[in-house]
Amino acid sequence: MTKKRIFLFISLFLLIGLTGCASSQNQNKTADANEDKLLVVTTYSIIYDIVKNVGGDRIEIHSLAPVGSNPHEYEPLPVDVQKTTDADAVFYNGLNLEAGNSWFEKLMGTTGKAGAEAPVFRLSKGVEPMFLTTEGKEGEEDPHAWLDIRNGIKYAENARDALIEIDPDHAEEYEKNAESYIKELEALHQKAIERYSEIPKEDRIFVTSEGAFKYFSQAYDFTAEYIWEINQENQGTPKQITRILEIIEEQDIQGLFLETSIDPRSMEMVSRETGIEIKGKVFTDSIGKPGEDGDTYLKMMEWNIETILEGLTN
Ligand SMILES: [Zn+2]
Repeated sequence: MTKKRIFLFISLFLLIGLTGCASSQNQNKTADANEDKLLVVTTYSIIYDIVKNVGGDRIEIHSLAPVGSNPHEYEPLPVDVQKTTDADAVFYNGLNLEAGNSWFEKLMGTTGKAGAEAPVFRLSKGVEPMFLTTEGKEGEEDPHAWLDIRNGIKYAENARDALIEIDPDHAEEYEKNAESYIKELEALHQKAIERYSEIPKEDRIFVTSEGAFKYFSQAYDFTAEYIWEINQENQGTPKQITRILEIIEEQDIQGLFLETSIDPRSMEMVSRETGIEIKGKVFTDSIGKPGEDGDTYLKMMEWNIETILEGLTN
């Protein structure tokens, strides 16, 4: 063996030794800090918040698509792969939400979470699905069930049942957390009905960029129009813009709204073309950044109530 070779072997040996050592130290550190907490991964910020409310102190939680991003199409980062591999439970919306570029399905495959026995839970279980109508997408499920707060309650119940299933020793705690959280959601749903009833029926019509308001419209008696139906298609194409301009011409649209997680330019163009004002920003696919407006599911839904009410009554 040449000297150079020996040197290489020794270097390699040292390198492996050092890395091995570092990683086991890290593991110990994490284990101490988290004690026996469950490691939980959610696909986007809205269910992150719902699961956090139900899991409370018992869980360590990571959201894949971060706050403010589009969960329809997401590119997982190395940290997401790591966290999902380590996760005791993974929560997703389903109803075609995480299907955009099959990112979720692929991630479950690469992280060993693909089998029927894997601890992967669909929070929209039990929701009556509504469907897309755009040509070529007819019959696909519309994912935005959470904009009807009664569905948010179902999500919380499903989160509770899943956490109890994988961690039955702390069932009582999950029950308790879910109970008080669901009470808050029920109160907010009642408030939504009362506040929205202040808007005359004929004025309960508005436009957003993405057609995220199907479940919402059914729950709170609105008509919602959109530029594109779902964030999985080209957004703001001339065809889509022409279509919405025609709809606006035929109907008495009271206001346009921007979404916090969507590029405003298409809606700004619609506003310029029609002379109809943009009345505010609503939350659809993401909660707000920590410390800012709408930074929880409850707060984002409350924000939407006030923004839509004010926009359509002024
Ligand atoms: Zn969406």
